[in-house]
Amino acid sequence: MRLALAEAGRAADGGDVPVGAVVLAPDGRTVLSTGHNEREATGDPTAHAEVLAVRRAAVELGEWRLAGCTLVVTLEPCTMCAGALVQSRVDRVVYGARDDKAGAAGSLWDLVRDRRLNHRPEVIEGVLADDCARLLTDFFRDR
Ligand SMILES: [Zn+2]
Repeated sequence: MRLALAEAGRAADGGDVPVGAVVLAPDGRTVLSTGHNEREATGDPTAHAEVLAVRRAAVELGEWRLAGCTLVVTLEPCTMCAGALVQSRVDRVVYGARDDKAGAAGSLWDLVRDRRLNHRPEVIEGVLADDCARLLTDFFRDR
C-alpha cells in the first residue's frame, strides 16, 4: 500500500485525482505493475489507476488472466474498475479508503463480490485508510 500511495502522489503531480494501484504476483511480494490515475494527463476516460495497473500486469505476465494476483489500490474501486478486476480474475483486492459516493467494492455497490458473477475476488479494505483518504482530502482542498 505504501507503493500505491507513492503512485497516487504521482497522479496528483499530473493534476489527476490521487489514486494509485499496484498488482502483486501470486507470491504476494513481487510487483508486476503499478498505475495511477491519468485521466487528465492522457484525456482517456478509462485511465483509472486500477485499469492501467491490470493492463500492465497482463502484459508482464503475457496473459490476461491474473489468477493468484493481488490488486492493491488506495481508493475503493469504481464500477468500471470493479468490472475490470472481475474480468482480470485477480484473487484479491486490497484497498485503503472507502468511496461512499462511487465505491463498487462494498460501500455503494459490491460488484466484486456479486454472487451472480462467476469470479469473486477476496476483498480486504481499510489498509492505511487514513493516509489514502488524506491524500484525496488535501488534493480537493487545494483546488
Ligand atoms: Zn475506477
